[in-house]
Amino acid sequence: MSEKFAGLLEFARDHARTVIAPNVQRWNETKAWPRSASDMAGAAGLMGLYAPEDWGGQGLPLSEGIQVYEQLGLGDGAYAFALSMHNICTFAACGYGTQAFKEQWAGDLTSGGKLANFALTEPQSGSDPMKMFTGATINGDNTWTISGAKAWVSLAGEADVYFTVVKTSDAPGHKDMAMIAIPADAPGISFGPRYDTPSYNFLPMSEMYLNEVVVSEDNIILPIGQGFQGSLMAIDIARVSIAAGCCGLMQTALDTALSYSKNRKMFGGKNIELDGIQWMLGEVATDLEVSKLLYRKAAEALGTPEGPLMAAHAKRFVPDAAVKAANTCTQVLGGMGLLQSYGLDRLSRLAQMLRIVDGTTEISRVVIGRALQKRAEGLPDLPVPKGYGEPSGERSSMTTE
Ligand SMILES: Cc1cc2nc3c(=O)[nH]c(=O)nc-3n(C[C@H](O)[C@H](O)[C@H](O)COP(=O)(O)OP(=O)(O)OC[C@H]3O[C@@H](n4cnc5c(N)ncnc54)[C@H](O)[C@@H]3O)c2cc1C
Repeated sequence: MSEKFAGLLEFARDHARTVIAPNVQRWNETKAWPRSASDMAGAAGLMGLYAPEDWGGQGLPLSEGIQVYEQLGLGDGAYAFALSMHNICTFAACGYGTQAFKEQWAGDLTSGGKLANFALTEPQSGSDPMKMFTGATINGDNTWTISGAKAWVSLAGEADVYFTVVKTSDAPGHKDMAMIAIPADAPGISFGPRYDTPSYNFLPMSEMYLNEVVVSEDNIILPIGQGFQGSLMAIDIARVSIAAGCCGLMQTALDTALSYSKNRKMFGGKNIELDGIQWMLGEVATDLEVSKLLYRKAAEALGTPEGPLMAAHAKRFVPDAAVKAANTCTQVLGGMGLLQSYGLDRLSRLAQMLRIVDGTTEISRVVIGRALQKRAEGLPDLPVPKGYGEPSGERSSMTTE
């Protein structure tokens, strides 16, 4: 492990312990994004993890950078998620943005001085992005005029720039999609009422309305024809990042349960001495180890043909394991597990949120199912007995009589 990578992991762990965990309850009550905390993370290098050093980034491979969210997830999964989305946008800007865009934005994004987020989802198109309609028309001077509405925009009103997926024609399908960076101060951009999400209210989220917003062609991140494929690549990185954050969440849930259980007196001994409690917590510990191996393997596969499938495996398995872990650990504390001060109720809700964002568990199953169908095509045929399953009532050749 390089010294730089080790230092970033250590900073992230410390940031989770000393900045996020002690303050997250207050952040939620005040419903305010902790900009001073994300500024600190930026100053330490956490906002340009995969961006090249030439643009002020850390130049880490995805397989290393993603491990930072496991550490941040020890403090809060929604905070880890927001930073992961910023890092994906920054990576896209430095890798695919125009020279003019990079010169204007890259330094501020990699330092965290400016925040970015990704806007794909629309009110009528979540799991099914083919139903999106936010559109751009290209003007005679090559500027783009964008109109439409996005939904579930994280860092709404807080980010300085929104990497927005748009259609550029009325044709169905994705071949006309592009991604363009829309600055928050562009005339015609506005935000709806904030979604009320008590367990992560510090992360502002709302709809984003684009009313004839005019943007320079310098801001094109992915040109027409590449917007959808590029978004899928971004979502794969996000899926593995979410799985990494979930591992931090599971570790915190487990440690909370252990810290309580070793002191809770019952039946002449301690809660932790009961076999049943050890089995419950043992399952959480095994799921945590499996989850770490899975997300790290998926992170290594990103950028290879196996990447999308591995990301789907990680996103399908790990957030489910996190929901189970948070609920099991709550159960271990008995009634005390329900009190806000122990934080387990927040972890349960966060884990459930992480099952949904950036492609639900069910959508991961769809990706895995398609890969299995493809694999089946390449396998030798196992014959289905003649007549077996025919609705005609014809006797199958397996019938013994
Ligand atoms: C906290 C949070 C932050 C978010 N931040 C952003 C953001 O910054 N930018 C952004 O673009 N988006 C963001 N999203 C949106 C997120 O990606 C979508 O919520 C997600 O893709 C699901 O879409 P949906 O909510 O419209 O659910 P729907 O698509 O309406 O799905 C409803 C249900 O149907 C299920 N379903 C769908 N298809 C199938 C199928 N084929 N088989 C079986 N079941 C199916 C789903 O799994 C789900 O359970 C965020 C969401 C959350 C919760």
